[in-house]
Amino acid sequence: MDEKKIKCPVCKKESAWKDNPFRPFCSERCRMIDLGKWAAEEYRIAGEKKVPLPGEGDEIK
Ligand SMILES: [Zn+2]
Repeated sequence: MDEKKIKCPVCKKESAWKDNPFRPFCSERCRMIDLGKWAAEEYRIAGEKKVPLPGEGDEIK
């Protein structure tokens, strides 16, 4: 009854907390996806300034 379940933040699948070296992810795959996501975002911020695409810049509020 003390099986703690966690919800993987990547695929939203429930997995066991216990004996899970990849927690809070369900698997190494999801962990890598999450790490890759952050790395990609940092790369994007560092690599280029956000330039509005044609059309996007017209959205003046
Ligand atoms: Zn997952």
